[in-house]
Amino acid sequence: MTVTKTDQKKVTLADLTTKEYPSWCQGCGDHTILFTLKNALVELDIDPHNVVIVTGIGCGSKVNHFIRAYGFEGLHGRALPVASGIKLANKDLTVIVVGGDGDGYGIGGNHFIQSMRRNLDITYLVQNNAVYGLTKGQYSPTSSKGFKSSSTPDGALEEPINPLATAIVSGATYVARGYSMETKHLQKLIVDAVRHKGFSLVDILQICTTYNKVNTWDFFKQRLYKLEGSNYDATSRRGALQKAEEWGDKIPIGLLYKDEHKPSYEDKYADSIVGHDISNVDITPFLNRFR
Ligand code: SF4
Ligand code: MG
Repeated sequence: MTVTKTDQKKVTLADLTTKEYPSWCQGCGDHTILFTLKNALVELDIDPHNVVIVTGIGCGSKVNHFIRAYGFEGLHGRALPVASGIKLANKDLTVIVVGGDGDGYGIGGNHFIQSMRRNLDITYLVQNNAVYGLTKGQYSPTSSKGFKSSSTPDGALEEPINPLATAIVSGATYVARGYSMETKHLQKLIVDAVRHKGFSLVDILQICTTYNKVNTWDFFKQRLYKLEGSNYDATSRRGALQKAEEWGDKIPIGLLYKDEHKPSYEDKYADSIVGHDISNVDITPFLNRFR
């Protein structure tokens, strides 16, 4: 993605800090994801006025209240269409979408697929705690089969969706999985995702201490391993799909798939609206139609 730098001064954490404080539960993964995203923006050294953070609805979708940059908190599941419009209007902006698994993979599931199909140059960070936290703990599209919740007291009947496999087959060109407790590792994934030219997804496994008693710290501690340092080849689509299927005693985190050759949507079809010379455009005939 274009990382626009117009200020000489290096961006610091203080530049990105607002007067608001999160009220997330103690131990919630949203805290470390927020902290890590801010550190990633410092590392990327993008001027805050060139960053737009678009969110949906959910506990974690409040992140743009706590980062001093442009922000838009949209309707439930509709963050990606808003982000698409922003990016098409001004290609020079760094557009980052943040939201939960219920928001993005459930309610916004079709937007998720269509945005990746276009390979828009935006970064999507999904706080995947496998539950709807804000609305009091209903099961989500990534809850495991049999997950007991307020809406599934006898256990979820459905199989969970596989967001990484969905992303790979739908056309995303950077697909990674992080973990909210592995902050340095996650920071690198986010930095690389923002720098990637095209649609980048970082699915972030996170703890919901209040409503998810299955995907706990111990659950992840026993299963997660990093792809970095192994001989894993992230350029193979077929290999990435196989890796995305791995969810059991071992669960991989890291970069699963990257395609650096596919052009991004806005570079193929659209000039930014911002920056166009409109001095010779007369919209009077158009306005007259409504008089
Ligand atoms: Fe975090 Fe869950 Fe509490 Fe929401 S309900 S703030 S996701 S721990
Ligand atoms: Mg959730």
